[in-house]
Amino acid sequence: MIATTDSKIDRVRITLRGAVQGVGFRPFVYRLAGQLGIRGWVRNSSEGLVIEAEGDEAQLHRFLARLESDRPAAAVVIQTQTTRLNPAGDERFEIIASTASAQKVTSILPDLATCKDCLAELTDHSNPRIHYAFTNCTHCGPRFTIVEDIPYDRTRTTMRGFTMCAECEREYNDPEDRRFHAQPNACPRCGPRLWLEHSKGSAEARSGMLSREPFSEAAQVLRQGGIVALKGIGGFQLLVDAREPRAVERLRKRKRREAKPLAVMMPSLEMVRRYCEVSPDEQRLLESPAAPIVLLKPNGAGKLADNVAGVSPYLGVMLPYSPLHYLLLSEFPFPVVATSGNSTEEPIAISNDEARARLGEIADLFVMHDRPIARPCDDSVVRLVRGRGSVIRRARGYAPLPVFVGKSLPPVLAVGGHLKNTIAIAIGQQVFLSQHVGDLDTLEARAAFERAIEDMCRLYDFEPRLVACDLHPDYASTLWAQACGLPVVGVQHHHAHVAACAAEQGIKDAYLGVSWDGTGYGLDGTIWGGEFFLVQGGRFERVAHLRPFRLPGGEAAVRECWRSAVSLLREAGGSAWPVQFPGEGILQRMLERGVNSPWTTSVGRLFDGIAAIAGVVRTNLFEGQAAMQLEQTTNSFVTNRSYTLTSNSGVGDWGSLIEEVCRDMKRRESPGLISAKFHNALVDWILAVAEQVGVHQVILSGGVFQNGYLVGRSAARLEERGYRVYTHRQVPPNDGGIALGQAILAASREQGA
Ligand code: ZN
Ligand code: ZN
Ligand code: FE
Repeated sequence: MIATTDSKIDRVRITLRGAVQGVGFRPFVYRLAGQLGIRGWVRNSSEGLVIEAEGDEAQLHRFLARLESDRPAAAVVIQTQTTRLNPAGDERFEIIASTASAQKVTSILPDLATCKDCLAELTDHSNPRIHYAFTNCTHCGPRFTIVEDIPYDRTRTTMRGFTMCAECEREYNDPEDRRFHAQPNACPRCGPRLWLEHSKGSAEARSGMLSREPFSEAAQVLRQGGIVALKGIGGFQLLVDAREPRAVERLRKRKRREAKPLAVMMPSLEMVRRYCEVSPDEQRLLESPAAPIVLLKPNGAGKLADNVAGVSPYLGVMLPYSPLHYLLLSEFPFPVVATSGNSTEEPIAISNDEARARLGEIADLFVMHDRPIARPCDDSVVRLVRGRGSVIRRARGYAPLPVFVGKSLPPVLAVGGHLKNTIAIAIGQQVFLSQHVGDLDTLEARAAFERAIEDMCRLYDFEPRLVACDLHPDYASTLWAQACGLPVVGVQHHHAHVAACAAEQGIKDAYLGVSWDGTGYGLDGTIWGGEFFLVQGGRFERVAHLRPFRLPGGEAAVRECWRSAVSLLREAGGSAWPVQFPGEGILQRMLERGVNSPWTTSVGRLFDGIAAIAGVVRTNLFEGQAAMQLEQTTNSFVTNRSYTLTSNSGVGDWGSLIEEVCRDMKRRESPGLISAKFHNALVDWILAVAEQVGVHQVILSGGVFQNGYLVGRSAARLEERGYRVYTHRQVPPNDGGIALGQAILAASREQGA
């Protein structure tokens, strides 16, 4: 109801929760209030952003509408609360000081991609910031990677060593300016500087910072097939020309990264379209303030070097997200491989010295600068699943945004898994997730893991009362938890997977949790990975699982798919095998005696076995390769045919399935058909269990559900039959998501729920 003639004055208090601080929200509110004649104030508080607005009904109506429609792009509002107050008779609108203690919970934002205004300045000859690589404003620029402590003020960021010149200071203090309270504000006179170093150690400092020379020299190195190490936002990146197979090969060799797909940065959306199919939703993800790597389907037209994406059915693509990247790609306007600056298994290098020491043997040229990076933050990876973004690796642009869980949790620190590790801390109703830490196989990685824990606890002034970890006794994260001296709660790996999805989606009991992955320690001490849970009243009942089989050689079978194949073929008992594997005799004897052959119910390992039997791949050069390749093989195939995966009193029996695969192999059916029928059999099994269990909410979680074909078909089939299907959005379906689930389940156990 809008009363145009009634000039009765009202006052409302609006509380906005979410990522609303440090994104230019207060100046935006200030300007909006000025335009509409609203009186009152805005301030940051521990609750979020609080506004009190006074005006007549029409003014308030417009104010509330535009608060919704025109707010800063980088803000993420999770909850809005509006209450009516008595008018206080304010005469103007002000930005008022936030209370110092008020900031702890909400004030750290992720890093934000360069905004349109800053981008325009980069090429504007009348602007003092032309070609300046460290341009930013309240709407964009680094945040999480420069914060050293909170409240988020310049003196507590890595920008504290740079004193603002008079002009920058003026912008910083002017509420009407785009750079009002932009903590990393800088210009060529007062801000960070850029220089080149050749890896032979000859530093060539460049003084003329307005010049684009460093970038043209870097472009020259790329053109010649060289490797450039660029100090980006969350660490060093290694870049090569993505069209040059030999350059990519050199990078792979030096970085010791055999086969895992590499991501590509492209100068513009138009160029992305030359190589990939881009839907409007995918375009939104590419151009979002997080600017992640988006997994796209190649369109078959533009051709990059084959060894970029390798066996992946997708190409990981991102757009430039900092002035540095824009400037470099304007000198080299082609797709470049952009991968983390590290050797395989090591954390990303962030300091100049670290980069010189660790990347000196890899890179030919360094693009260095003197703005320190506070903590490592890799590029995030996202993919469109059922019409919405689903994060696969959560780091730059997303970390450390919290997940709101809708109930208050005790202070729990969750230390995550062993692979793709992330950690989480629970503060009130929010769970803060660290950036992707990575696999904890090396000493360096474990040191990075410990730093991430210290860092999160220090930043948020957090003292855990409880530590949640995986049940696996040998995970580095579990060992850390056991040694830390606090009470420890072990959480089953696959419970954690589905609980993470339930938490981020706000799902209440009862639901069917489908938890499929490569490896996780089961409650019975065997290796789980093909589990169905009925979750009711906070209790997990394992209602179905894959028929167990042995993994000859244990750990070795994770890499060597053919080991799973031998085990499955032997158990299925068919007479003549369609394939032979060198070394299978030894495995047969191991299996006979049950030596070093643990039992598993892992669907990931079943994928391995099928991939090896179907001749698609025998060895995983990286985690999940076989499944990825099987999915890719399926792409060319549309069929509703399926193998038989019988569901008998809670056990999914692959016996006939293996026989049928062998039969198709002997008939020389194509791997595409075999793969499609296998995927379809898994979907049929999910449907069968869902019918038996009879709850209407179904969660799909675990690394196996990174498979687009499997998720798409399962969800479609379930929804046809009236089920509500939930998949991950904010946290990864893989082990990068389990810290969230651990925190939730440990908390509810502590609370006796
Ligand atoms: Zn900007
Ligand atoms: Zn300045
Ligand atoms: Fe897992």
